[in-house]
Amino acid sequence: MNAEPRRARTAVRTHSFTESVIREMTRVANQHRAINLAQGFPDFPAPEVLKEAACAAIRADINQYAITWGAPRLRRALEAKYRRFYGMEVDGDREITVTCGATEAMAAAMLALVDPGDEVIILEPFYENYGPDAILCGAKPVFVPAREDGGPDVKALERAFNPGTRGIILNTPNNPTGHVYDRDELETIAGLCLHYDAIAFTDEIYEHIVYEREHLPIATVEGMHDRTVTVSGLSKTFSITGWRVGTIIAAPDLTDAIRKTHDFLTVGSPAPLQEACAVGLEQLDSDYYDALARDYRERRDVLFEGVSAAGFSCRRPAGSYYLLTDFSQVSDLPDDEFAVWLTREAGVASVPGSSFYSRPERGRTQVRFAFCKTVELLREAAERLRRL
Ligand code: PLP
Repeated sequence: MNAEPRRARTAVRTHSFTESVIREMTRVANQHRAINLAQGFPDFPAPEVLKEAACAAIRADINQYAITWGAPRLRRALEAKYRRFYGMEVDGDREITVTCGATEAMAAAMLALVDPGDEVIILEPFYENYGPDAILCGAKPVFVPAREDGGPDVKALERAFNPGTRGIILNTPNNPTGHVYDRDELETIAGLCLHYDAIAFTDEIYEHIVYEREHLPIATVEGMHDRTVTVSGLSKTFSITGWRVGTIIAAPDLTDAIRKTHDFLTVGSPAPLQEACAVGLEQLDSDYYDALARDYRERRDVLFEGVSAAGFSCRRPAGSYYLLTDFSQVSDLPDDEFAVWLTREAGVASVPGSSFYSRPERGRTQVRFAFCKTVELLREAAERLRRL
């Protein structure tokens, strides 16, 4: 008998994953001993205080499940964080969920709050997970291209919102554009959410990596407290992407539902690492956050000068740690071939731009470089690009 081979769900099988593109670019980078600026994680150490605290927590036998929605000490530290940076009063008992990274946070929140058939607006270029998150909910992703400068195209957003819109996914500071939404832009989006009774799912994982502009959570815009799901985490702030500690702030009724999907998905984030993150939040003062932004600004400028001198065109990002560049002055190749060519010829790996768009042709002349690497490595990458 000819049995049908077992297959994954259509939504999963048919979606292309940026992660697999990054993995492929990493393979090509290794093959050519290239500098890998495709991968979006730091190559420098995490703060000593966090590493010590994690070891101490394990030795103190904080090794069993934490409370599903987060260790009390971490939730208290998060209350203090939101008060200190944004003047937000958050109730850690009813409005915080700690997850396995921002990745799980967004998935858990959407699975809890988005029904099959709902529409979810996603601004593009986008971080790779949002489309699959919507699809896993059985929802319809509605992609809205951002303006040339990475800001929201208000007219296009007005056309996209409708009574079937359940939510919009925002990412500020943005991966891959580096755009940091200003108050006007957030208020415009808030107005549309209020008018259409929609939820803002906002991914603020790069909140402390900002340069020329302050980060503003949309939850602080009038009327948005009850209809915002604020996703963030410690992966980028403490350079600990492998720890998997993410956070969600949402009104109690939303949090109730989110905690359930989070429980079904992962039960909880690693208990000793939650403890260590609490210590980091409690002990690292403004010097730490200032240095984080200052060091990233230096890295940004080194790489920006390098890619500009090599003939790429791009905007200096106001936040996050990526340069989304246009290479049409350098080569006529399509983005995926160009990225491989650049890795081989210049020894610098990047991510093909088409990975960040619903229609690949939109990113055909773009590649993205990550600058979460040591300044020395970025200087070398800039030099290699200049020699092109
Ligand atoms: N959100 C954005 C916009 C990202 O760029 C990334 C990682 O690159 C993540 C979320 C993942 O965060 P986490 O490691 O906390 O899951």
